[in-house]
Amino acid sequence: MDLSSLMLPAVPLVDTHCHLTNGRFDTDREAVIAGLNERGVCRAITIGTGIADGEKVRALVTAHPDRLAGTVGLDPFSCHEAGPDFAAHLTALERLVESRAFCAVGEIGLEHHHQVNPHDLQRDQFAAQLDLAIRHDLPVVIHVREAHPDCLEVLRAHPQARGVIHSFDGDATEVRAYLDLGWHISLNGMLGYKGNDYLREAAKTVPSDRLLVETDAPYLPPMPFRGRRNEPALVAATAGLLADLRGERLDDLAAWTTANACRLFRLPLPW
Ligand SMILES: [Zn+2]
Repeated sequence: MDLSSLMLPAVPLVDTHCHLTNGRFDTDREAVIAGLNERGVCRAITIGTGIADGEKVRALVTAHPDRLAGTVGLDPFSCHEAGPDFAAHLTALERLVESRAFCAVGEIGLEHHHQVNPHDLQRDQFAAQLDLAIRHDLPVVIHVREAHPDCLEVLRAHPQARGVIHSFDGDATEVRAYLDLGWHISLNGMLGYKGNDYLREAAKTVPSDRLLVETDAPYLPPMPFRGRRNEPALVAATAGLLADLRGERLDDLAAWTTANACRLFRLPLPW
């Protein structure tokens, strides 16, 4: 299947989570960014993982203020790499955030699938960054893998924090718990993967004013593009599947998710 055969909504989409600084975009990064609008994407939010990557995100976003927005955070893998230098990285994160080049703090969160820092340390490092986001009045992009009970507990202790559970992978009960705390839910290509019936059921239960779409490019390409590199334009495939699952018109779903993204991240609406 070719990109040009994707059905595009009348209203452009926001890819709320991608990694355009990733090395897999080194050969065609500028072309991918230049082609966003004609592929139905009004903006891509590129996510910085760690300080060095955050600096790259800042440079990229500064060069493309109309097409991109950026975030920076110490994700569980960056926290693990920082080791005893976590406090210094947290200070550097605050300096970056103070530059006001970013629309959110993240991704930050909890990773229980891969072996990184001990769970209690991860919670502390996650909480410290939620506090930072609250101090700077910024929304938060959350990474949570196989750690919903811990994540919900940390979020309950931070009622002023707001944002999105990115690459959501959970069931309808977990959707409910995050919604009750005021969080948004973002879905990507995993929605179409075999064996993810629980996720498809969960996706139907998210109210249209809390729903976001993303790619997590270059990872997790949606069906039927699995096996190739993911990119922001493929967010339309997830939006199409989501509209089908929910029995909604693609144009409506695009309008809602784009409005939600612009409201949450304080970005200008494309219309
Ligand atoms: Zn990510």
